[in-house]
Amino acid sequence: MNEHDSERIASLLVKDGYSQTDDVEQADVVVLNTCCIRENADTKLYGNLGHLKAVKDRNQDLQIVVAGCLAQKDRDEIAKRASWVDVVVGTHNVSRVPALLEDSRNYGTIVEILEESAIDDELFSLTATRANLPFSAFVTVQVGCDNNCAFCIVPAVRGREVSRKFGDIVAEVERLAQEGVTEVTLLGQNVNSYGRDLAIEARRSGEYDRFTLGDRYVVDSAHSLRPLFSELLREVSAIEGIERVRFTSPHPKDIRPETIAAMAEVRQVMNQLHFPLQAGSDRILAMMHRGYTAERYLAKLAAARQAIPDLAVTTDIIVGFPSETEEDFEATLEVAAAACFDSAFTFIYSPRPGTEASLMVDHFIDPEVIQRRFDALKVVVEHSALLKHQERIGRVEMVLVEGPSKKQEGVFSARTSQNKLVHFARPKSGSQVRLAAGSYALVEITSATPHFLRGDLVDVVAPPRHRRKIDVAVG
Ligand code: SAH
Ligand code: SF4
Repeated sequence: MNEHDSERIASLLVKDGYSQTDDVEQADVVVLNTCCIRENADTKLYGNLGHLKAVKDRNQDLQIVVAGCLAQKDRDEIAKRASWVDVVVGTHNVSRVPALLEDSRNYGTIVEILEESAIDDELFSLTATRANLPFSAFVTVQVGCDNNCAFCIVPAVRGREVSRKFGDIVAEVERLAQEGVTEVTLLGQNVNSYGRDLAIEARRSGEYDRFTLGDRYVVDSAHSLRPLFSELLREVSAIEGIERVRFTSPHPKDIRPETIAAMAEVRQVMNQLHFPLQAGSDRILAMMHRGYTAERYLAKLAAARQAIPDLAVTTDIIVGFPSETEEDFEATLEVAAAACFDSAFTFIYSPRPGTEASLMVDHFIDPEVIQRRFDALKVVVEHSALLKHQERIGRVEMVLVEGPSKKQEGVFSARTSQNKLVHFARPKSGSQVRLAAGSYALVEITSATPHFLRGDLVDVVAPPRHRRKIDVAVG
């Protein structure tokens, strides 16, 4: 989400006439887009601001913007501690960055933070693609979060859950597809409850304008508001040119059969599910207010795996939540082993100011104990990741080519439908095959590690809708 906010700020500035540079000495504007979900974002921020002060001493015209959730949380504090900052902008008014830069030229430092989540039409009407992957785009479908996980600062800095209008999202994906995007990732903190707020509001007001798509309703005639996320997956997948649809992050407690059915039935919805577990102990899950038990989590996972052939499952797990005992941690290891994840983001618990868990100081876990548990979890996760990856050996996978590998000369990197990274040798010069970033190709998987696959190029294909070979010479 934070990465996508950076893309959108960049798009706004480009629209305003700026262009991007890698050289800070050349820059007229530097934007630091912060994220305070874990670790010491503030230490990093003030370190970076220290370096930028020296740059600004050399170039008085340089303007510095601090955006993101740390800005939302610390507000005036930032301008006080770093008086050379020009603009501090919160998470709800990012589209104001260009105007605030202009204002600060006339009036000095400006701090503008709004309290409420809002769907900022100006911001969302911009299509922001990724500079390095122009054929793959993030699309925000919802901002904020209505849950209250005890460890999490997101609801405090991103506000309440607000969904974008259905038709606006479809229109954005149509625009992206026209620009050559073939893969979209729908983003929301609680993405599978997309539309819940819209339904409540429609029932209250009796107005259904947020559910229209062109001249029809995406709900049935009786206005019975079905789960909109699954409808959204289907509509977005039906857009001409869109070949791959992904989404993140769904909440296990809210995953519905309709979403699983859409994943199973719609070719474009990829066979990949990020399914954040957080912990395997029911006692800890209850303290976290996650709304499911380990058994429930595993049952939902089994249902998804049964319905969706060849489903890859990834997760997030926190180690060292306050009061976590050896027994609690053993439960996490057991559930992780049973779930057999394709990969996992594992985090050391980090107390976030203002959250419920941060007050449980008497129950904080010794950092050495956490580190030992963290290392043990990694072994379990890497074991299942390797197993899952080895299962791919010998298969021919359709991949979306991302471009030449950053690490290895002569090698291309691509993603399988399960979102696994695969490296394969580029076609030899003289070959009739030319591969460009954004092409689709068939690759036979030849070997596996816990984090990526290796393979051999079999064929280059146009997006599967055309199913034809591209005969182009090596240029
Ligand atoms: N909405 C998503 C989570 C977004 S935050 C969900 O509910 O799954 C991404 C991940 O960061 C979380 O899944 C969690 O594992 C981790 N995280 C959030 N707050 C944390 C904290 N205080 N300490 C450690 N990890 C944290
Ligand atoms: Fe944070 Fe929980 Fe909301 Fe995810 S669902 S953003 S972890 S409060």
